[in-house]
Amino acid sequence: MTSLSAGWVIPADGPPIRNGRVTWADGLIVDVSEGPGDRHFDNAVILPGLINAHSHLEYATYAGFGDGEPFGTWIGTHVVRKRALDFADMVAIATRGAADSLTAGITTTADYSFSGAAAVAAATLGLRAIVYLEVFGSDPAVAAAQFTEKRAAAGSSPLVTLGVSPHAPYTCSLAVYEWCLSLGIPVGTHLAESANENEWLVAGTGPMAPNAAILAPPTGKRAVQTLEPVLGPDLLCAHCVEVTADDIALLAARHVPVVHCPRSNALLGCGVAPLAEFLAADMRVGLGTDSPASTPSFDIWEELRAAIYAARGRARRPDALSAAAALDLVTGGAARALGLSGSIGTLTPGAKADVTVLSLAGSPYDPVEDPVVAAVFGGAPERILETIVDGTTRYRQGETSWHEVHSTASAARARMLA
Ligand SMILES: [Zn+2]
Repeated sequence: MTSLSAGWVIPADGPPIRNGRVTWADGLIVDVSEGPGDRHFDNAVILPGLINAHSHLEYATYAGFGDGEPFGTWIGTHVVRKRALDFADMVAIATRGAADSLTAGITTTADYSFSGAAAVAAATLGLRAIVYLEVFGSDPAVAAAQFTEKRAAAGSSPLVTLGVSPHAPYTCSLAVYEWCLSLGIPVGTHLAESANENEWLVAGTGPMAPNAAILAPPTGKRAVQTLEPVLGPDLLCAHCVEVTADDIALLAARHVPVVHCPRSNALLGCGVAPLAEFLAADMRVGLGTDSPASTPSFDIWEELRAAIYAARGRARRPDALSAAAALDLVTGGAARALGLSGSIGTLTPGAKADVTVLSLAGSPYDPVEDPVVAAVFGGAPERILETIVDGTTRYRQGETSWHEVHSTASAARARMLA
């Protein structure tokens, strides 16, 4: 039995507990209540381990590639540079991504993986992960061969669940989506990320057109309508920026879980997804950092605040997204989006002992008045004291050193720049 206590515990499935304590045994939470633990953290908040609902650990050192380019040519730059890497390089970069995630207080990441390296990295550092192996193209037999090869590379670990990711409607046929959904494992895709995607799908024009050789043929329909035959509760859809009211109604009617990635969408000039409309339609929504290919970091705290800035700015209302509603996007709400409610995302007896300890000492929110507001606006990777996955400490500030992880990943990045 192990227990931690702090000035506040935010269980995320009930009100915050002052002078709260979380107790676990054999990797599962057994008690959340008031009282002192084996170890106590002053001026700190204990939260459920945070969930990043959309990442690419394998792009942890792709920072700045193609910055300022249109989506179509940006993605072309990445395809070309990725060719400089072998599998060991991809593992090295993904391990850096897993380290950055744990440092930020993330305990579960839903990762779309090009090579399977993300699964190896998550297992090595003890990060819980659903790794969706990416497949591309129009032929299900080809996709099946890609999946088999990547699954062999990914290996297996108790903390890693393997899924499959038909990449996007502009790179995969409906037949490939149907094959993926027939596997009975988690399935995730990118959907309606950019106007360029709709331009290609509707008319075969726009900045994606020069990459026609690696794209699915135009369908004459926008992205969401293109996927209409396969939309359902088991298809996790990242982005959903370029959506009409009809698209939102369809996504809601089919109970499609969506991942909001506001920093990535803003930095690539894709737009601002209608988060308030998704939530008003009772859709399941998680928040994702995407990766340093499009955002500066796996800093889920920055992502939380970006979601609030975007939602309040877009709606011109300060109550468009409360701190509590934002926190739900990386805790209980994200777990619902991933179909893992009750297992992760809340400090609930019986749930996995995934726990994050955030210091607010010396912050503008110290002493803490509202712990949720303080955590959401004051949280940062530099303030994470400890990250615990499955009852085991995987990051402790001042003790865990990832010097070698960083230098190996930087060497791989250097090969891409050569
Ligand atoms: Zn992505």
